[in-house]
Amino acid sequence: MSKKKALITGITGQDGAYLAKFLLQKGYEVIGGERQNASGNKWRLKELGIENKIQIVPFELLEENSINKEVRRGKYDEIYNLAAQSYVDKSFVSPIYTTNVNALGVIRILEALRQFSNKTKFYQASSSEMYGNNESKIQDEKTSFKPISPYAISKLHAHWMLGLYRNAYNLHCSSGILFNHESPLRSNEFVTQKIITNLIKVKFNLLPCIKLGNIYAKRDWGYSEDYIQAMWKMLQQKKPGDFVISSGNTYTVKDFVKQAAKYLGFNLSWQGKGINEKAINKNNNKLVLKIDKKFFRPNDIQSIHGNSNKAKKILKWKSKTSFEDLVKIMCDAELKKYK
Ligand code: NDP
Ligand code: GDP
Repeated sequence: MSKKKALITGITGQDGAYLAKFLLQKGYEVIGGERQNASGNKWRLKELGIENKIQIVPFELLEENSINKEVRRGKYDEIYNLAAQSYVDKSFVSPIYTTNVNALGVIRILEALRQFSNKTKFYQASSSEMYGNNESKIQDEKTSFKPISPYAISKLHAHWMLGLYRNAYNLHCSSGILFNHESPLRSNEFVTQKIITNLIKVKFNLLPCIKLGNIYAKRDWGYSEDYIQAMWKMLQQKKPGDFVISSGNTYTVKDFVKQAAKYLGFNLSWQGKGINEKAINKNNNKLVLKIDKKFFRPNDIQSIHGNSNKAKKILKWKSKTSFEDLVKIMCDAELKKYK
């Protein structure tokens, strides 16, 4: 039997790298789509030892021609669209660019599939950000969406277009509504990795203290390497659909700091309130953390908590890595760099 062939857009990102490794292990031929002005940085693929096992092709979400050409040429069994302007805070600065990449980019792919490759199975990276500050305490596939950032609105646009192409044109496209997921491959600009890299710098006296914004925001954090398996499972189903992928547990940013600080040997005492809140290391009386207005967003989701029962039932998927283990995995990977 010939090898299955998959295209992963956003292969240089966190999820793209883990998914590529996973599909290679399953015997797939893996092709990675690279944008025109790509960072060119393949450190994640190198880190996983798969840089030379993947063919890279041009694939620019802003360019219809680039997408049409590759979809026609590739004759893919599966396409995973993980590419995006993925930063919520940057989407407030660049709402038009974000919409063009995250929403119109997906329509460009769907149109290419409809015209040139309607048997290809398609996965779209939707996001829990689409729920916004929803009144439901726990969100599942039936919860209504109330997006509150340009990023979330762009993702919802793509999500709904995908549903339309699934129903109107019978394309096999599935959408994973993924809650926050992290790993040692997470970019430093997301809060979990920022906390860990900065706490370690404070520990080794390379940084005076860590500065954060809204530490009372709650997120449902899981481990990327668990979550990418759900993407693949979605495309192995007879019937495509939308699936919430989450850990089912929710913690504040402050809880994340506490857990990482404990693991790294800090003994924190929290003092003050609001913008004046800070954390001191009781072991040496030194400041470890303070709040900085700069890191607050114009709009922020206060709490998010997913219910993945549908994925559990249909995909036989569940989140395996606990919050404590996730923090440990990320801390250990970062500490290794200092040895
Ligand atoms: P990353 O930010 O790590 O990776 C994003 C990828 O998209 C990079 O490879 C980047 O390329 C590429 N990219 C950016 N713009 C374009 C473009 N115009 N054309 C083609 N490629 C482009 O994201 P993650 O791996 O964390 O996330 C994967 C997907 O899942 C994203 O769509 C994200 O929005 C979504 N998601 C992520 C969640 C999470 O918690 N991680 C939660 C829910 C959804 P380059 O290397 O050149 O910058
Ligand atoms: P997001 O949920 O996809 O936006 O993931 P992030 O990791 O960027 O942010 C998670 C939460 O942490 C949000 O509510 C942010 O407002 C909050 N947060 C607090 N301080 C910071 C910070 O310094 N950087 C980032 N990225 N987020 C922060």
